[in-house]
Amino acid sequence: MTESLHAHTADVVVIGAGIAGLMAATTLSDRDVVVLEATGRAGGRVESVRQGDYWINLGTQFTEGTGPLIDALERHQVGMGTLAGKKVALALHGKQVDTSNPFALMFRSRMNFRDRTALAAIGARILAAAPFLQLNPDNRLAKRVRAKLDALSASYVLRGVKSEVARDMVRSWAGQWMGCESEETAATQFVISMGILLTDPAKVPNFSLPEGGN
Ligand SMILES: Cc1cc2nc3c(=O)[nH]c(=O)nc-3n(C[C@H](O)[C@H](O)[C@H](O)COP(=O)(O)OP(=O)(O)OC[C@H]3O[C@@H](n4cnc5c(N)ncnc54)[C@H](O)[C@@H]3O)c2cc1C
Repeated sequence: MTESLHAHTADVVVIGAGIAGLMAATTLSDRDVVVLEATGRAGGRVESVRQGDYWINLGTQFTEGTGPLIDALERHQVGMGTLAGKKVALALHGKQVDTSNPFALMFRSRMNFRDRTALAAIGARILAAAPFLQLNPDNRLAKRVRAKLDALSASYVLRGVKSEVARDMVRSWAGQWMGCESEETAATQFVISMGILLTDPAKVPNFSLPEGGN
């Protein structure tokens, strides 16, 4: 079998048309950029499919209200919806679980002293940073904390933590909330979402989401 080959020269070659590759390509769009994608579609883990009257988000659903991603969505005129007024519930073994107090929820489960202490240390790290990220993004301190966390992955909250239960919980939070490993996502996104969830769960529905819904 013969395949047609052609040569192409560019200033920048981006591998992968996931959101990271597309952000890199649009940021560098003043140069000659080529994006190479292994599959037949752009978007990577961002994908919404229509099923009848509904859109199902197979990947990303939520993003928070400021930052380069929101700027890019606005630049590309991607419509945003809100979860305000929508309700979610958690069911376990056929019974609805009271999720109104996430702290109580975590500590109700059976854990030994070491696991509880590790979880408390992780919670303390999240709670120490979260209030700064909820300040006006132009605030100097908020900018400093955001820049520091942007440079770290979410797994920074596990620094020095030996408890496997606590490590599994963080991995599972990242998986549930971000759809990725804690090493793969910026600490900022993790701290904001977990911080708001822990301190003010009522605010969670105000996260914006690309139009289409869940
Ligand atoms: C179910 C789910 C829910 C999620 N929910 C959220 C959420 O609510 N909020 C949030 O912020 N994040 C969420 N995420 C995570 C978010 O979708 C990902 O972190 C993000 O999309 C990753 O983008 P990326 O560009 O780094 O990687 P990817 O989206 O994985 O893109 C990588 C791209 O590179 C391509 N590629 C790989 N290797 C090659 C190669 N050798 N040559 C060419 N192309 C290649 C792949 O085909 C792919 O298209 C969720 C993810 C999932 C799965």
